[in-house]
Amino acid sequence: MPTNGGARALVAGNWKMHGTTASLGELRLLTTMLKGVRLNCDVLVCPPATLLMAAHRLTRRSPIGLGGQDCHADIKGPHTGDIAAEMLKDAGASAVILGHSERRTEHGETDDLIRAKTLTAQGAGLLSIVCIGESLAERQEGRTLDVITKQISGSVPPDASPRQTIIAYEPVWAIGTGLTPSPREIGEAHHHIRLMLAKLFDGHSAAIPILYGGSVKPANAAEITAIPDVNGALVGGASLRAADFIGIIKAYS
Ligand code: PGA
Repeated sequence: MPTNGGARALVAGNWKMHGTTASLGELRLLTTMLKGVRLNCDVLVCPPATLLMAAHRLTRRSPIGLGGQDCHADIKGPHTGDIAAEMLKDAGASAVILGHSERRTEHGETDDLIRAKTLTAQGAGLLSIVCIGESLAERQEGRTLDVITKQISGSVPPDASPRQTIIAYEPVWAIGTGLTPSPREIGEAHHHIRLMLAKLFDGHSAAIPILYGGSVKPANAAEITAIPDVNGALVGGASLRAADFIGIIKAYS
């Protein structure tokens, strides 16, 4: 798989609010399907937090890593219903998705909050997958790169550890819609992010994976993989079925 720079590729599945114990069958199937596959990318599955421990038991001896979908900015405390980074780690996660557009929209998450969560997650030893991306209106108004600039400066802490940082560029209008930007548009956004990271981390950023997310499917994965500065994918819908997810992993292998 082309690493498209210094970063190792990562294919991450975001199950969102889908999955009960029965869904672990898909994860079991994925571990079986991955046997004998020569992987040239890391593989991560982010199930609902309720499934993490059971998923950990299933994937322990496989190349599949596990991640959470959010964590609180505080290390611990009186936050009913929330989950701490340390709890995710304790349940078997090695990463956490932060600032997904669904959380920005549905829970009013701001760049400031996401920056705080990133530091907390990294302090707990988790890789933080920080999500950014423009809305349809912002793209139509030609403001995509401005939005990316604002979100990166706001949600990626300059004192974050580059080794624990992953960026996911996910245009909001491409999530769950079957629509994707053109390869040229994806390349432009990723190149912009790469330049911003180089500035933010004073040159120590070449190994930070920049994932593309938004309607990645087995059918378009290979084309997206080939775009410069794309180091993998954050996959929603197509990560729910092992048969689809493996198709995307193979495009990155
Ligand atoms: P999708 O979701 O692949 O279903 O478009 C991507 C995401 O929200 O991470």
